[in-house]
Amino acid sequence: MKFQPRASHFIDGEYIEDTNGAAIEVIYPATGEVIARLHSATPAIVEQALNSAKNAQAAWAALSGTERGRILRRASDIMRERNYDLSVLETHDTGKPIQETTVADATSGADALEYFGGLAASLTGEHIPLGGGDFVYTIREALGVCVGIGAWNYPTQIACWKGAPALACGNTMVFKPSETTPLSALKVAEILVEAGAPKGVYNVIQGYGDVGASLVTDPRVAKVSLTGSVPTGRKVYAAAADGMKHVTMELGGKSPMIVFDDADIENAVSGAILGNFYSSGQVCSNGTRVFVQKGIKEAFLKRLSERLDHAKIGDPMDEDVSFGPMVSENQMNIALGYIEKGKAEGARLVYGGERIERDGYFVQPTVFADVTDNMTIAREEIFGPVMSVLDFETEEEVMARANDTEFGLAAGVFTNDLTRAHRIVAGFEAGTCYINTYNLAPVEAPFGGSKMSGVGRENSKLAINHFSEMKTVYVSMNDVEAPY
Ligand code: NDP
Repeated sequence: MKFQPRASHFIDGEYIEDTNGAAIEVIYPATGEVIARLHSATPAIVEQALNSAKNAQAAWAALSGTERGRILRRASDIMRERNYDLSVLETHDTGKPIQETTVADATSGADALEYFGGLAASLTGEHIPLGGGDFVYTIREALGVCVGIGAWNYPTQIACWKGAPALACGNTMVFKPSETTPLSALKVAEILVEAGAPKGVYNVIQGYGDVGASLVTDPRVAKVSLTGSVPTGRKVYAAAADGMKHVTMELGGKSPMIVFDDADIENAVSGAILGNFYSSGQVCSNGTRVFVQKGIKEAFLKRLSERLDHAKIGDPMDEDVSFGPMVSENQMNIALGYIEKGKAEGARLVYGGERIERDGYFVQPTVFADVTDNMTIAREEIFGPVMSVLDFETEEEVMARANDTEFGLAAGVFTNDLTRAHRIVAGFEAGTCYINTYNLAPVEAPFGGSKMSGVGRENSKLAINHFSEMKTVYVSMNDVEAPY
């Protein structure tokens, strides 16, 4: 098998196998063919990975930030050099078109390694004068062993978004990819070692949810960073709380995108396409509730349908293809189930709405109009290519409806009225907002959710605070005064 890795796990700088673990079959979503066979981590593998990360941590943290940063930046360069091969692997792991994976996966991972590699040397505490000669200084310290648990939609990116800031701060990591897409995190581990990362600094073990759960509760683990759904986030957060561990939770969403009558309609349609159909709709921050003001509703729907006719659906390895399969049969069935609910609950099907008759797990890009706030497709995260278009009349009305959700990951507005754009964004209950664009996530900017969509932020300088803690050192230059 062309994509079969040397072994299932990467621990202490080496590939390791334990065939006693439950079988994991890796399936190419475009054909349904098995492209690799792996094994879930046994308790012995979990033990080895955690020991390796624990043993490596003090020496890694003792390196200068410059040295750690150099290794991360070298890894970034290697990832960029191998972008095409890594993208082919990512396309086979996830089914996403090569047109996407060559620009949004290994490249995004490389950005994170480069950015946090660049920051590593400047991660310091501060000096705080207190008067009378006394002062405090703070020492920024690593947390220790961090666990990363990934979702299946952006496996390389998630492995790097968690690994790069963790390692920059002097932590070590045990990363567990989703068992649906286990291949590319192994490549990230390999590349880090090739770039000079000492053994044990970044380990990858495979497994189902039970493996993730055993990592989260282990007393050697100081922090857990999860990308996943809200139900999993709730469980992992609760388990981490028991051990008073640090957490970052990047969870799901049902984000609103508001299009006012005065918006540039072509840009709004582009934003809605990016925010609903990129990666076949399997993006956490997608703006799946598209509120369109009544005056441009029909024009918006007409232009959207015309543009969707130009989506090239097919073999994701074909560079012209812009719309691929869903990640798995299971995820396809979930999306098809929601499409049936949309039809049954009275939404107007404007585009698509069916499985595509070919091998693999393809679902047509689907648009429902006349969706109302209480319909299932407007309330629940679908994580598939299903857009709901809702009507609105006034700014006050749409603001309240946009925020009427338990989620708070992202939100966007399209309008040419500058003050209204900022007013709307100020009112959004969401961690990541967009004005006249949608779904960008550059490493320089904080990314994460409010409300049920998450805790903490990834990327940007803020991520450093989530992977390190401050030690406060009070220094007296005077005699100690005591009351008796
Ligand atoms: P899941 O929540 O099903 O799984 C996420 C990860 O957690 C997987 O590796 C899973 O393993 C693991 N896991 C499951 N149960 C436990 C447990 N009890 N303890 C520890 N780990 C566990 O999410 P999906 O993989 O289905 O990904 C889709 C979800 O991810 C969507 O809701 C999406 O919105 C969200 N997401 C959020 C992003 C963000 O940045 N906010 C980005 C991308 C996706 P296994 O797969 O083996 O069950």
